[in-house]
Amino acid sequence: MIQIDCPYCGKRNEDEFVYGGDTGHRRPEDPAGLSDAEWCEYIYSVPNTRGWANETWWHVRGCNRWITIQRNAESNEVRPASQNESHG
Ligand SMILES: [Zn+2]
Repeated sequence: MIQIDCPYCGKRNEDEFVYGGDTGHRRPEDPAGLSDAEWCEYIYSVPNTRGWANETWWHVRGCNRWITIQRNAESNEVRPASQNESHG
């Protein structure tokens, strides 16, 4: 089980969170302006970074905030991101 250090609540088990994805995989600003191929590329070509990646997680069973952490996909080691960002 991964322990995620929420900047608002402290260390919590992973099951209190919902994975939000890699911060480098951003929704296109104008989805309606994309071709079907471009939309499929966005939907199905999700980054799967080996090693450290910045990820967003929603603390749904805690403070209900989005946080950004760094997670090593090989070891599941977690550390704070250099900058936490809020998504609402
Ligand atoms: Zn929290």
